Amino acid sequence: MPIVEISCLRKQFGQATVLDGVDLQVAEGEVVAIIGRSGSGKSTLLRCINGLERIDGGSIVADGMQVQPSSLRAVRRSVGMIFQSFNLFAHLSALENVALPQMVIHRTPKAVARANAARLLERVGLSARADAYPAKLSGGQQQRVAIARALALEPRILLCDEITSALDPEMVGEVLDVVAELARGGMTMMLVTHEMGFARQAADRLVFMHAGKVCEQGTPGAMLDHPATQPLQQFVQSIR
Ligand code: ADP
Ligand code: MG
Repeated sequence: MPIVEISCLRKQFGQATVLDGVDLQVAEGEVVAIIGRSGSGKSTLLRCINGLERIDGGSIVADGMQVQPSSLRAVRRSVGMIFQSFNLFAHLSALENVALPQMVIHRTPKAVARANAARLLERVGLSARADAYPAKLSGGQQQRVAIARALALEPRILLCDEITSALDPEMVGEVLDVVAELARGGMTMMLVTHEMGFARQAADRLVFMHAGKVCEQGTPGAMLDHPATQPLQQFVQSIR
């Protein structure tokens, strides 16, 4: 049984069809990297899975739930999402940023939420910065706080949309290390990324989106070294 099952997904913005019959299944514990040109529909796909966009056709089942307006609260408890922009609360410390959503969404008692937050900050290598405010943290540190915050809600599926794209190059590695550690720990992940080296190492499967469709998918090695379709051949050449 896949933990994410997408069938014939269609999404339009006005007259433009942005997702044009996407079929995709993700198994529990699988790490799927989604690649493709800008505008091919990668972000929209992730946003649909998390219920941030209303779909126009087809279906999405995540963690056994049909993603639809009436199930959004439950879906978002199972499906976490991390974005390119960290979106931390500026007036809260790193620890408070990780603790607060647990208190609001899961009604976790404050002391328990803070203890969880401390443990998660340790996991992302930020114990020493627990009391720092976001403005005092580097981009890489802020993104690691955002990862800890997402994990605090104990998602079954984690969606990551270009989470290293806004970072200075020297900070990309520390964030990807945390993601790779999560992948090894069995977290089900769908991540949109331009980091092909990382995708090759950490992903079980690559999915290449082109013009709103899944154009090609397979193991990273096969996809990148022997692209079968012309759009993927062009894409691989363009990133060399
Ligand atoms: P990617 O993440 O692969 O770069 P997106 O999913 O962001 O692609 O966008 C796919 C297409 O949908 C693009 O043509 C984009 O301009 C369009 N699009 C995305 N979001 C919106 C929106 N909220 N309103 C109108 N068009 C949008
Ligand atoms: Mg995008």
